[in-house]
Amino acid sequence: MTKKPEILLIYTGGTIGMIKDYESKALKVFDFDHLYENIPELNQLECHIESISFENPIDSSNMNINYWIAIVEIIEQHYESKDGFVILSGSDTMSYTSSAISFMIENLNKPIIFTGSQLPIGDLRTDAKENLITAIQIASAVDKNGFPMVTEVGLYFEYKLYRANRTTKINAEQFEAFTSPNYPPLAESGVHLKFNKNKLLRPDRNSKLVVRKKLIDNLIILKLFPGITEQIVKNIFEIHGLKGVILETYGSGNAPTEKWFLTLLKKALRKGICIVDVTQCIGGSVMLGQYETSIELQKIGLISGKDITTESAVAKLMYLLGEKIPNSEFKSVFEKPLRGEMSS
Ligand code: ASP
Repeated sequence: MTKKPEILLIYTGGTIGMIKDYESKALKVFDFDHLYENIPELNQLECHIESISFENPIDSSNMNINYWIAIVEIIEQHYESKDGFVILSGSDTMSYTSSAISFMIENLNKPIIFTGSQLPIGDLRTDAKENLITAIQIASAVDKNGFPMVTEVGLYFEYKLYRANRTTKINAEQFEAFTSPNYPPLAESGVHLKFNKNKLLRPDRNSKLVVRKKLIDNLIILKLFPGITEQIVKNIFEIHGLKGVILETYGSGNAPTEKWFLTLLKKALRKGICIVDVTQCIGGSVMLGQYETSIELQKIGLISGKDITTESAVAKLMYLLGEKIPNSEFKSVFEKPLRGEMSS
């Protein structure tokens, strides 16, 4: 008999871990030590599940770098003994967190699957059970040679597994809360769980796991809008200690051609601030130089975020700034896909 896969469930907080206290009618955090009693369906899964919960589970709006480090440290400690990881988190910042984890862990050979839910696990109409059960099945799935099917950070929600660093939360009401505008689902759950095998990242089984924990968070997202003033942009670029800017531009990476705007960008670049051009559009890619309104951005050396999401750009910038890459190489390193987060 083959050994059952060992899965580690990490609860960080969020709606999924809530259960109704029938006396007070209030939602309270579910006790993960009694996982199997509360969700007996888990007994039917072909795996063994152990769970770890944050001592004080958080609403994901309170997520920050220290919690990301806590998550990767739990994974690091259990990496050898477990076959797969399922991380339960609030959905509000799940795309940021799962993107960050994808950059912080290099040479991943095992699945790390994020999931959450729109309704608590204790609610009659909950989406939590399906999300949790299928996320565990995905984390346990192996190919015909017995290797893990998924060897990257995924996000499973409402019947679809996505590459986590390609996702964005698009809905606060519907069960289908996430989308991946520029990359197809890695798996879809219908009557059968179907993997989109040629879209999955191929693992490098000979390289050792590397965990990076030095993220730098002195950055800002600056979303352009018609009428943005010189004074505001100037003040932003003068923020003490600012290291990076995610510039959310229009369409395929376009921005005003006014002289003051370009002068401020050039000055910031000269100071060593990294500026990444990402599009405000939900789908599609930055293509610097396609329009007159982006030719100058290209000439002055803005980094093209290509088809990366803003969430993933934030995580990648924090990660790469922490890697102390020389200024002369930073642009070319950022513009290369590192974990499948952008097209090449
Ligand atoms: N506000 C919650 C959170 O992100 C929503 C959720 O759990 O999905 O933690």
